Amino acid sequence: MLSYDIVIVGGGSAGLSAAVAAHDAGTGSILVLEREPRLGGILNQCIHNGFGLHSFKEELTGPEYAARYIQMADDRKIERMLSTTVLDVSPKLVVTAVSAEQGVFQIEARAVILAMGCRERPRGALNIAGCRPAGVYTAGCAQKLVNIDGWLPGREVVILGSGDIGLIMARRLTLEGAHVQCVAELMPYSGGLRRNIVQCLDDFDIPLLLSHTVVGIEGKKRVEAITLAQVGESLRPIPGTEKRYSCDTLLLSVGLLPENELSRQASVELSPVTRGPLVDESLETSVDGIFACGNVLHVHDLVDFVSEEAAHAGRKAAEYVQAGQERRPRREDELEVRVSGGVRYTVPSRISPSSMDERLVLRLRVGQVFEDCYLSVYAGEKRIVHRRRQVVAPGEMQEITLRRSQLEGLEPGSHLHVLVEGE
Ligand SMILES: Cc1cc2nc3c(=O)[nH]c(=O)nc-3n(C[C@H](O)[C@H](O)[C@H](O)COP(=O)(O)OP(=O)(O)OC[C@H]3O[C@@H](n4cnc5c(N)ncnc54)[C@H](O)[C@@H]3O)c2cc1C
Repeated sequence: MLSYDIVIVGGGSAGLSAAVAAHDAGTGSILVLEREPRLGGILNQCIHNGFGLHSFKEELTGPEYAARYIQMADDRKIERMLSTTVLDVSPKLVVTAVSAEQGVFQIEARAVILAMGCRERPRGALNIAGCRPAGVYTAGCAQKLVNIDGWLPGREVVILGSGDIGLIMARRLTLEGAHVQCVAELMPYSGGLRRNIVQCLDDFDIPLLLSHTVVGIEGKKRVEAITLAQVGESLRPIPGTEKRYSCDTLLLSVGLLPENELSRQASVELSPVTRGPLVDESLETSVDGIFACGNVLHVHDLVDFVSEEAAHAGRKAAEYVQAGQERRPRREDELEVRVSGGVRYTVPSRISPSSMDERLVLRLRVGQVFEDCYLSVYAGEKRIVHRRRQVVAPGEMQEITLRRSQLEGLEPGSHLHVLVEGE
């Protein structure tokens, strides 16, 4: 059986950044397994700019951003197997994969990093009434058709869901000559970044209809029209508000789901909120030696933060391998991170102060829009973080930096509490 110190599942931005960081932290043998014929993941189809502002202080396109990391992996001669799909990861860190060249084969690892990304929520998950004609696409699928395959999926388009991919596709399709009639969003706020609403909708006079949803699709062979209706507070359509839009295409941008079938097979405990693995301060999952990062862990808005998080996972996996038998038993002084008051989740959700670096970035999302508020962290009764924010919204991931000194001395078994406060 093949044997590597670290096996990384997925060669997108998370997998590549983790590989580079693990190499730079001194790991000898690293293997990246990628099911597509090229590295880079979803960035390869994101040909718009806006990537890398944080990491490289430059505005890059998705493929340019990916190319930087591929070059770093090439410079370090990090091994990769392309067109190779991982079928199974066992709790004992045996990875089973398949490729046309090698058939089914197994690799023994001392640590595994899960970096499989996410997939889009499909039409089937939405229960939209009406026919089943051609012309209903997820926004990411349309992005691939336009940007990689050179096909325009339709001419008269309605988009359901105001996540970033939907917003970016509204602009992309407009630039390619299609007419985007509107973007409809179920919630009373957009799921995308503010900058994308301005640059992709406002700049092109594309209306954003908040609190609206699709209640019907017409057309036998191809979409001929869709009906939108306003929704009330219960998110149910309000009778009498229906409006019919003649169109040939409906794009769905209604959420991303971390791709965690392999994590489940490996007995990794998953969060019911993020649907990604529950991890500690090292981004190690509930299974010893299995780490997770990027969109498979929780959905990110910006790739720069994916790269930063994945580099942390890579360094920690390297430390794990180097520690070998000397490894400290986990969870001795672990603190649980609890959320309330509008915060939906944090990553990590467990922190061991003795194992954390001097500083730890806690990433979180809120469940609704809050203006002029504070993000607070309590350790027992004591408030240890109180950060003012003009606005926090579900579409924008928030970060809080914790210092080790703030957590040392807390009773083992106690918890941290993260919430949004008015003052
Ligand atoms: C359609 C879409 C468009 C996006 N557009 C933007 C954007 O414009 N700007 C932005 O900042 N962010 C965008 N994002 C977010 C983007 O996904 C992240 O910023 C980042 O690129 C995610 O990196 P990742 O490595 O976690 O996932 P991915 O880039 O998805 O990489 C995961 C990789 O794992 C591989 N993989 C999965 N399962 C297996 C398996 N079993 N075996 C082997 N390989 C496997 C996949 O083939 C893929 O290459 C977009 C996301 C999506 C889904």
